[in-house]
Amino acid sequence: MTVTQPDHPFLRTASALATDPCIHCGFCLPSCASYRVLGTEMDSPRGRIHMLKAIDRGELSLDATVAGHFDSCLGCLACVSACPSGVRYDELIAATRPRLNAPELRSPWQRSFRALLYQLLPYPARLRALLQPLRLYAGTPLQALARRSGLTRLLGPQLEAMERLLPPLQPEAFQDEAPVVVPARGRRRHRVGLVTGCVQRLFDPAVNRAATELLSANGIEVVIPPGQNCCGAMTHHQGELERTRALSQDLLDRFESVIGEGRPAGPEPLEAVLVAASGCGHTLKQLDTILAEEPDWAARGSAFAAQVADIQEFLHRVGLSPEFVAQLRPLRHNDGSPASADRPLRLAYHDACHMLHGQGLSQQPRQLLRQIPHVRIVEAVEAGVCCGSAGIYNLVQPEEAAELGRIKAADLSSSGADLAVSANIGCSLQIRQHMEATARPIPVAHPVELLMRSASGG
Ligand code: SF4
Ligand code: SF4
Repeated sequence: MTVTQPDHPFLRTASALATDPCIHCGFCLPSCASYRVLGTEMDSPRGRIHMLKAIDRGELSLDATVAGHFDSCLGCLACVSACPSGVRYDELIAATRPRLNAPELRSPWQRSFRALLYQLLPYPARLRALLQPLRLYAGTPLQALARRSGLTRLLGPQLEAMERLLPPLQPEAFQDEAPVVVPARGRRRHRVGLVTGCVQRLFDPAVNRAATELLSANGIEVVIPPGQNCCGAMTHHQGELERTRALSQDLLDRFESVIGEGRPAGPEPLEAVLVAASGCGHTLKQLDTILAEEPDWAARGSAFAAQVADIQEFLHRVGLSPEFVAQLRPLRHNDGSPASADRPLRLAYHDACHMLHGQGLSQQPRQLLRQIPHVRIVEAVEAGVCCGSAGIYNLVQPEEAAELGRIKAADLSSSGADLAVSANIGCSLQIRQHMEATARPIPVAHPVELLMRSASGG
């Protein structure tokens, strides 16, 4: 079945919003990740805009083939930064995504696989139940053998992509033991909330631990509502609006339930709500629009969105405390020797798309990292191009994502850096996965981990 075109207000709205200023100059094409790996006009921003105009005029049907060209878009927003005409492709693709979820536009397997991801990934308790038996497999010689022997290929491309992302599972991934309030060390300067995320909490639990310690060490009290699920970012990127609203409302509820007279975090309001994963921060900053149509939630969504900040953005804004900066020591090279003026530690900062193009943050993280003694920031050649992670893109479009992952890992590795720095869990998992196959693999760390490592003696 084909979706008929002019009856779809979303398309007219999207066209009115975004397609009119497009002058078809093609400046956006070199920055486009899907065009980079697929090489066809229909898989570029210009091509997609052209298709939307044709759909809007009733000259093209939104059938499964056309929908596939929209599904190939990573939503990385690099084209928005590149466009000289101010085309808001971000709004265009956001308006288009919900229609791509029409059942007739995807195969039964694609629908089932997505449904599985939506039921699993946003809920740490469910994901933990699945991962518990996999502790005997992840990161062990058995996993290496299964991959080497090609056994994992029998799973099919999507499930194999899931297996490839599976990192060694740390014991703390299966616990949620953070107190609701982590006090500031020394004089309290600020009081913030922390979004703990879903996948990050399980696949890289050291990040939240480092984030909490870093804030506390800088005189910032941290409120961590327990039982948090996904903030809604994962489903938001897929145009699953109902699920997104439900997840974001659940998160708001959990924050509101700990703040107030007689509640665990007391009555004092939060100055900001911090996020240590760029994709989540980008979505949470849009809660005003995500919840705008919900009478009971619109004002709460707006108030929450106004408080959201990336942890690096916030720390750059308020500054690291002088006491903390005084503690910072040179980090160690991969061979164990400390960085020095003669041999600085070279860091390649990977700009997550939703940080760079979505939130306009690029210098703040670099300036924070430069406060670590004997660190030199080196720039990768293709710093603005997506790594292929893009929410669940690397699971639902595994071939294109793998190609982008290989390009990104090779780019970071050949920058000459000793270490890659990534502040988004999806990117970190994707880059680590593909880094192994480069000629010169380098570790990947979150900036908050590096700052805490430096403060703990390097
Ligand atoms: S750069 Fe902007 S104006 Fe040019 S083709 Fe791309 S979207 Fe259109
Ligand atoms: S969002 Fe990214 S992948 Fe999609 S059209 Fe723009 S540049 Fe290409």
